[in-house]
Amino acid sequence: YYNEQTVIYQNGQFIKAKDATANVYSQSLHYGNGVFEGIRAYHTNEGTKIFKPYEHYKRLKFGAGVMNIPLAYSEEELTQITYELLERNGLKDAYIRPLVTTGVDMSLFSSKESNLTIQCWEWGKYMGDKLLRVRTSSFQRPNPKSCFVEAKVTGHYINSILATNEAKNDGYDEALLLDMNGNVAECSGANVFMQKDGKLYTPPRGHIMAGITRSTVIDLCREEGILVTEKHFTLEELKQADACFFTGTAAEVVGLQSLDEYQFPLAWEKTHGYQLMKLYKDEVLGLRQKRKAS
Ligand code: PMP
Repeated sequence: YYNEQTVIYQNGQFIKAKDATANVYSQSLHYGNGVFEGIRAYHTNEGTKIFKPYEHYKRLKFGAGVMNIPLAYSEEELTQITYELLERNGLKDAYIRPLVTTGVDMSLFSSKESNLTIQCWEWGKYMGDKLLRVRTSSFQRPNPKSCFVEAKVTGHYINSILATNEAKNDGYDEALLLDMNGNVAECSGANVFMQKDGKLYTPPRGHIMAGITRSTVIDLCREEGILVTEKHFTLEELKQADACFFTGTAAEVVGLQSLDEYQFPLAWEKTHGYQLMKLYKDEVLGLRQKRKAS
């Protein structure tokens, strides 16, 4: 993730990653009270472009807001800092990780002090390019009445880590989690879509991360005439689907080979997921916008 030369942004300054420090009395380390984002920048024909920075930083500010963590930067300022950080690191294609941690405070009331760091590194597709073998997790996604499921709070990711550990230790690539009502929710760090009889279905907001890739893919479907419906479905329904794929900033669009013992029958190249994987790539590279303009 970093080497001797790597530069990060920390509280108003660009410093060497190796010189960055974190306080062991930080509430973030003790209680997981922090918020973060996962963003990508792509090397396009028009130079390096961060994909949907405003949407990502809006979500970061929403998370800070609900957690009562001060974050006095606008979306525009954060975007501008990120472009400068990419330039200072000479990165064209990058994964960007802004992280807001809280100050020194052992109480359970959010500290008035916060620290912003932004890190970036080169990162291939997080879940790779191969079709995934997925395990249904024995862990449910958190109850939306227990926390803000749409906020990317560091502590929430313990649920994702438990599910991923269980799946990987059992020989699978990834985990699929259900919500508290037993409906399909999402992967540990990505949203889920299923294809049945030529149509796509994805769980509605409420128990899931409101993925920015998810909403980009829904928009792409609408533009391309692929029918997509946001509705709850069960594990039993998913195990009768023709195909399934995950979406996320880090994972982009990635297909599933199997879920537990069930093999998705439709060849990946014949699925909407495959088509959307390519459309998504064009979208992040600005190629679709260019075609629309010309
Ligand atoms: N679900 C979870 C639990 C996630 O952590 C993420 C990554 N932020 C996603 C879905 C996908 O969201 P996005 O497309 O905004 O990266």
